[in-house]
Amino acid sequence: MPRGIDLEHQRIKLEKWQRVFVNRSINMGSIKAIGFDMDHTLVQYNRDAFETLAFRATLRKFIDAGYPEELNELKFDPSSVIRGLLVDRERGNLLKVDGHKYVKTAFHGKRRLEKEDRRKLYNAASFKAQNLLSVDTFFALSEVHLFTEIVDYMANNPNKIQKTFKEVYDDLRKFIDLSHSDGTIKKEVLRFPEKFVIRDKYLPQALVRMIEGDKLLFLLTNSDWAYTNIVMNYILNDAHPDLTNWRDYFEYVIVSSGKPNFFTGQSPFQKVDVNTNKTSEYSGALIPENVYAGGNAELFQNLTTYHGDEIMYVGDHIYGDIIRSKGLFNWRTMLVVQELDSELPKLERNKAKLQQINMLAVEREAVDEEIQILRSRIAAAQKQIKVAANAANSKKAKYLSKETEKFAEKLSEKENLFDELDQTIRKLIIEHEHTIHSGWGELMKVGLEKSRFAQQVEQYACLYTGRVSNLRFYSPFKRFVSTHDLLPHDL
Ligand SMILES: [Mg+2]
Repeated sequence: MPRGIDLEHQRIKLEKWQRVFVNRSINMGSIKAIGFDMDHTLVQYNRDAFETLAFRATLRKFIDAGYPEELNELKFDPSSVIRGLLVDRERGNLLKVDGHKYVKTAFHGKRRLEKEDRRKLYNAASFKAQNLLSVDTFFALSEVHLFTEIVDYMANNPNKIQKTFKEVYDDLRKFIDLSHSDGTIKKEVLRFPEKFVIRDKYLPQALVRMIEGDKLLFLLTNSDWAYTNIVMNYILNDAHPDLTNWRDYFEYVIVSSGKPNFFTGQSPFQKVDVNTNKTSEYSGALIPENVYAGGNAELFQNLTTYHGDEIMYVGDHIYGDIIRSKGLFNWRTMLVVQELDSELPKLERNKAKLQQINMLAVEREAVDEEIQILRSRIAAAQKQIKVAANAANSKKAKYLSKETEKFAEKLSEKENLFDELDQTIRKLIIEHEHTIHSGWGELMKVGLEKSRFAQQVEQYACLYTGRVSNLRFYSPFKRFVSTHDLLPHDL
């Protein structure tokens, strides 16, 4: 019996990072098929090793193309960029915005932009997120990190690279694609999977629990067959006494699916020769013995007879995996947000500080309210003074002036208190954010606001969690109930 069942029966409270979070209620009992993305969903990579590889391979191509040899000295710091940021390729800036598209943090290379610069460049005018590039995938992290390193190099070594930031970015894109397509990166991963791929020992248990609950599982990945087979083999073969081959877990295996086009296009499924990795034309029913490439969601639904909300798709890419599958086909969605694994324990440790910040924020709001009341009293009294003066009622005018002075004194007291509270809150938020990530803070928050990333997660992912294996704690018939269908006026 999987350990999860015991846990649930005993009602042992799960740690935060073991939980599945609910944006939109889902009754797992009515889900018949669960699809999984592979990279960064079923398969977690050792990001240090994997992205250093991508960083170095791409840098090599820059230098080969005539960029200064000195670039070779750039240091790779795998945690310097987080998902959800936006890249301003024209100006060479990296931005973190809140859910209202307000730029709260910005860097040019390694230099943090001050509030005034941010206001001038971004916040003074309406924000055009569509002109910016969104850092959605883990693959993009090393790409964007390399960009900021080169921008920093350009800032410190003027005229050594005679290109605009945008041109540098275009080169970067080209070289990254080349590193992926010429196999530089893949070859290394396939040669030493143990160096790059993390085996999650609880994954088999989570998948088996869903299978035992009569769910059909399928794999839908953009990676090609040769790569998929080796990586899946590494994480699942011989990991469970009953299912010794990774293919045993999945009814259908679809590789090279070209998501998000899988959800928008009309490509037919092709059959993959599992020995040669070659594809051939295919028509007819999907059968478990075959491996397919390409295809499209509409045809998938017709061939499998599972439709819309009977299907749940689990992926890590908000755009490629989640937005289209939910928006166009009404598949239910679960987003794997790997960062939660490390952020949630830190947030737990900062709980007391966060409570203090929230209490101070409530106090600040109350003081702000008093300030507004005092301001309107002063304005009203000043108006009355004028009326009294016009009516030559000097006694009343004098009395009112005295009152106004008292209000003004009180106002300045309250304004000072407000500033003090505001500064304390800011200081505490900076301290808090620094413990999460020194440059960018929390993935899901900007100060006290939701980040743009958090807003997308909330909007598009029915469920989200740190890793797929957390599903082992939940029954395949679990009713996940959303707790935040509350509007501001419900609170
Ligand atoms: Mg993925």
